[in-house]
Amino acid sequence: MALLVRNILIFFLFSVLSLFLALLWFMEHRHPSQDYSELIQRLNNNQILKLEFTGSRVVFTDLDNHAFVTTVPDVSKFLERIQGQNIRVVVKEDRFNLIYMTVISVFIVMLIMMVWWSLQPKEKEESKFASDKLVRVNGKEIGLTFEDIAGIPEAKEELEEIVSFLKHPANFKKIGATIPRGILLQGPPGTGKTMLAKAVAGEAGVPFYSFSGSDFVEMFVGVGASRVRDLFKEAKKNTPCIVFIDEIDAVGASRSSGASAGGQEERGQTLNALLVEMDGFATDDTIVVLAATNRPDILDSALKRPGRFDRQINILPPDLKGRIQILEVHGRKVSLHPEIVFEDLAKATPGFTGAELANLVNEAALMAARKGRDQILNEDFEKARDRILMGIERKGMVMNDKDRKVLAYHEAGHGILANKLPDSDPLHKITIVPRGMALGQTQQLPISDHPAYSKDYLRSKIIVLMGGRAAEELVFKQQTTGAQGDLLTATQIATDMICKWGMSKTLGPQSFSLDSGGFIGGAGGRLPMGHDTARLIDQEVNELLSTCYDEAVRILKKEQCLLKNLAEILLQVETLDGEEFNIIVSCSAKKEVAAMKDLEHICPTCNVKDNCSIGQSMQEVVDAIAS
Ligand code: ADP
Repeated sequence: MALLVRNILIFFLFSVLSLFLALLWFMEHRHPSQDYSELIQRLNNNQILKLEFTGSRVVFTDLDNHAFVTTVPDVSKFLERIQGQNIRVVVKEDRFNLIYMTVISVFIVMLIMMVWWSLQPKEKEESKFASDKLVRVNGKEIGLTFEDIAGIPEAKEELEEIVSFLKHPANFKKIGATIPRGILLQGPPGTGKTMLAKAVAGEAGVPFYSFSGSDFVEMFVGVGASRVRDLFKEAKKNTPCIVFIDEIDAVGASRSSGASAGGQEERGQTLNALLVEMDGFATDDTIVVLAATNRPDILDSALKRPGRFDRQINILPPDLKGRIQILEVHGRKVSLHPEIVFEDLAKATPGFTGAELANLVNEAALMAARKGRDQILNEDFEKARDRILMGIERKGMVMNDKDRKVLAYHEAGHGILANKLPDSDPLHKITIVPRGMALGQTQQLPISDHPAYSKDYLRSKIIVLMGGRAAEELVFKQQTTGAQGDLLTATQIATDMICKWGMSKTLGPQSFSLDSGGFIGGAGGRLPMGHDTARLIDQEVNELLSTCYDEAVRILKKEQCLLKNLAEILLQVETLDGEEFNIIVSCSAKKEVAAMKDLEHICPTCNVKDNCSIGQSMQEVVDAIAS
C-alpha cells in the first residue's frame, strides 16, 4: 500500500514538473515561424530591429515589433553578413535543450529506481513469507485469566501446573521435574480451548505465539516447514513463552490415514519439522506448546508420543453446573433483569457449549436492544434460544389451510406422546411457526443432564419421533414428507441401539460399531461381520422402528380427543409453552372424566352436548394463550 502511494506521489511530481517545463517551452516558442528567405528579404530591406540566437534558431523582431522565428543554416556566415548593419544581436544559451535532456535523464533514472524499489519489498516479503502469519501477543496484554473461564474446572486445574512452571521454572528444575512440553486440548468446537490457552499466557504473563494449523499449509512445498522453524526460533529467543497451534489437525493429520487430502508432501514436511522442533527443545527451554483440535482421531500417532504432546486434556461441553457458571461469566457483561435465573436458563440449554452460551447472552442482549429495553428479560433469552436452535422465523412463508392443519396435527402428535410416555423428557415448547429448515417443532427439555441413556428412554424418544407421522396417518390417512427429519433421527437412534449399545435381545450384548473418535460427528464405521449378522441387524432395526410406530399409533388413537383439541388450539395460537400445554392436557382429561360421568361437554370427538363447563374452560385457555 505504502509502495503504491509512493509511486503515485513520484508520478504526480514528475507530471507537475513536466507540465511546468512544457509551459516554459511554450512561452519560449510562442512566436510564429517564418522562412529563412523572409529573414534575408527583411534584412535586405533594413526591416530588422533585433536578432536573438539560440543555437541555429533565431527570433527576429521587425520594425513593427513583431517577432518571428526561423532557422539559420550557417550561423557564423550569417553573422558576418549582418556586420555593420544597425541590428541588435543577442545570443542565448540553448537552455531548454539542456534542461530537457537533464530532466529526461533524471526521469529515466527515477523510473529505473522505481521499478527496482517496487521489486525490493517483494523480495523482503518473500524472506518474511515464512513468519508473516505469526501472531505474538504479550501475556499481560491478553487480558484473559482463569477467572474468565467457567465450567471446565478439570482442565483449569491441569493447566494451573503449567502456569506455575512458566512463572517459576527454577522450582521445577531444582528437583529435576520436567513439565510436559506439549499439551493437546481436544474437544468439540466452542468449548473454550483457545480461550484456555490464552488464559494460561495471561496468568503466567509470558509471550503468547499463536498460529493456526492451516497457516502452515501453503501451496509451496517447504513453506510450512520453514514457518514451523521460524516459529520455534522466535519462541526460543523469548523464553519463557507459550506457543499455541490452533486446529493442529490441519497439519498433524496422520501420514498413513490419508485424512489430509491434497498437498500431502507439504503437510508431511511440515509435520516432520514440527516433530523435529518439539524434540529439539533443550531442557532449559521454558517453552510450552499448547495445541487445540476437535479431530484427535486423525492426528498422527508420532505427535502424541511422550516428549511431544504427551498430555491430552479433554474439554467437553459443560454440564448443568458448568453452564450456570459460564452464563454468570457472560451475564456480567450485560444488563440483566432481576427475573433472570441462570439455573433456569442453563436447564433450557442442555448440550450448549461455552461459545453457544456466550452467543445466547449476546443474542438476548440484541433482542432487548431491538425492543428499546435497557435490561434483558426472560422472553429475550427464550427468543434468542429459539433463534440459535431453530433458525430465524420464516415470516414470509405462506402455507395453505390444509398444510397448516396437517402440520398442527403432526406437532400435536409429537407433543402428546412426549407427555404420555413416562420415560420421555418433559415438553418445553410446541410450535407450528416455520423456522430455519423446519416447518414446526416440538421441543423437550431434560430435567437434568443425562450422563447415559436407558433403553426405555431411547425407545420413548423413537416413539415421540414417530408421533408426527402417526398423527398424520390417523387423522388424514396419508403420509407427508414432513416426517423425513423425524424418521432419519429415529433410524439413527434405533441403529445405534442395536449396533452400538447392544440393546437387542436377539443379537445379545454385542457392539458392531466403531466410534469416529472425533468431536465433530462423522461416521465411525462397523466392525467386520458376516452377511447373516448384517441381515439380522437390519431386521432388528426394522422391528424396533415398527413396534415404536405401532405404539405411537396406539397411544394417539386413545388420545384422539386431546389430539384434535391440541391441534385446533395450535392452529389458533401457533405456539404453546410447556405450562400451557399441560393445562390443555389436564382440561382434556377433565373432559374425558366428564364424558365418563355422562356430564355435558363440547368435545366433538366424544359427541357430547355443547356449553359444558369444561368446554368453556378449554375456550378460556385458548383465549388466555391467544391474548
Ligand atoms: P474453541 O477454541 O474450543 O473452539 P474458543 O476458545 O474459541 O473455543 O471459545 C469461543 C468463545 O466461547 C470464547 O471467546 C468465549 O466467549 C466462549 N467460551 C467458550 N468456552 C467458555 C468457557 N468455558 N467459559 C467462558 N466462556 C467460554
